[in-house]
Amino acid sequence: MEISKEQVFERAKKGKLWAGNLIEGYQSNAAKLENRTPIDNSVIGYIADGSVSDIDAAVSLARSTFKAGNWRGLSPQQRKQVMLRWAQLVEEHSEELAALDCIDAGKPITECLNTDLPATIETFYWYAEAVDKLFGKVAPTSQQELGLIVHEPIGVVGAVLPWNFPAQMFAWKVAPALAVGNSVIVKPAELTSLSAYRLVELAYEAGVPKGALSLVCGLGEKVGEALGRHSDVDMVSFTGSTEVGRLFLKYSAESNLKEIVLECGGKSPQVVFEDADIDAAIPHIMAAAFWNMSENCSCGSRLIVHERIKSLLLEKLIAAAALWKVGNPMDADVSIGPMVEEAHFEKVKSFLALTIKEGGHLVTGGKIHSEIGAGWYIEPTIFDDITPQMSLFKQEVFGPILAVTSFNTDEEAVALANDTQYGLAASFYSQNIHRVMNIARQINAGTISINGFSEGNITTPFGGFRQSGFGGKDNGIEAFEQYTQTKVIWFINH
Ligand code: NAD
Repeated sequence: MEISKEQVFERAKKGKLWAGNLIEGYQSNAAKLENRTPIDNSVIGYIADGSVSDIDAAVSLARSTFKAGNWRGLSPQQRKQVMLRWAQLVEEHSEELAALDCIDAGKPITECLNTDLPATIETFYWYAEAVDKLFGKVAPTSQQELGLIVHEPIGVVGAVLPWNFPAQMFAWKVAPALAVGNSVIVKPAELTSLSAYRLVELAYEAGVPKGALSLVCGLGEKVGEALGRHSDVDMVSFTGSTEVGRLFLKYSAESNLKEIVLECGGKSPQVVFEDADIDAAIPHIMAAAFWNMSENCSCGSRLIVHERIKSLLLEKLIAAAALWKVGNPMDADVSIGPMVEEAHFEKVKSFLALTIKEGGHLVTGGKIHSEIGAGWYIEPTIFDDITPQMSLFKQEVFGPILAVTSFNTDEEAVALANDTQYGLAASFYSQNIHRVMNIARQINAGTISINGFSEGNITTPFGGFRQSGFGGKDNGIEAFEQYTQTKVIWFINH
């Protein structure tokens, strides 16, 4: 049954939203954790407080399903049909899923409806359609031999998700991993498990065998760690902070050396040259800096601008920032909702005082909107005169605070852009194509945008360099490489 956003919000008001473990044939006795919305900190329901035993049960089920072959053993065409039905069900329930992400993460409803869910649905369709178009290879050999290069599913895959794009990150990982025949165990972020629960229910309705897809909700340090350390998990695909990504490498090293793919944080530069079309650049700079309350891994949080145009650019950014309405994300005209939880709000807020103490100059914003809901609302904020030594230049804030640094030469711009431990994304604004072509090749980042802000789309691989992650890419045909292993089979004619 399709559920409207109003019905979701009504259920939330009554504290009735639920996300539990989904592990076929296993009775979990997990306790419940309160689920509060960052909108006003009220209880909207509960999630399962999953345990190590729940992970053990999910892994054992995933392994036996993989061995039995009732998903893996289907032809790609058969898996495609099931995945297409799933995509269609997700499409039919998109309003419900958008409302769940809005209330769970405090994301603006308009963004959830018009950006997150369309991208999520497209991802499911795309990998369903792609899976029966993957070919292996034949090695160049003499006529006495035949060498086949084939790609096989890895086995039991753990997908560990962040809270900033809950439905979309689920799709990015689960759609390709499942399409190629793996058994997948999803561990959503404890702050945002609601849409993951519904997506798994819809998968079952579409005909995905229950043993091939399980959900274990709960705390990262409990179920996330148990998944990372489990000796019968073949790989974990992780999106989240660099700090926790590091832990997954440790879990792997201390257990079965499972493969780990990391998509982690960023401190991405946006470089504006003196010959840029400033008016055309403004909406892109704003989106890169403040979209999704800047709770975005590829957020362009460092604005590196040519000294000669800095005042003009800042004047226009101040005017643009004033148009981004801060408020209840359930309202259609709101662009900036709350920070996802109080602890994160406190962390982001601490950068305001710290940046002033370190010598940054507040250009606009800086206000906490304590009059709205729980009060975890921070307006778009811009600091000028940020040097590479300052915390705001170096650390990922994951909140709406933009650092402005100026330069005079192209060499300086490149050095500043690359002056980071991360390497997820970068944007360059200039009307001189030779200049930006040359510079794009010198930048250490996985996605470079010229005259705009883009994370690419489903057709293009997404992922970082350096401490932004490694091991594989999300999106594009390349994502299948994460979830398959390559085998060579030789036939020898005697
Ligand atoms: P997080 O690292 O706190 O949590 C991510 C996941 O890891 C959650 O499911 C969490 O429960 C789990 N986890 C937490 N502690 C754990 C532990 N000790 N052991 C095992 N699992 C644990 O990240 P977050 O706060 O949810 O997300 C924000 C971060 O994610 C930011 O740094 C952001 O840049 C990054 N991110 C990256 C991408 C990308 O594609 N590169 C996309 C979105 C978010």
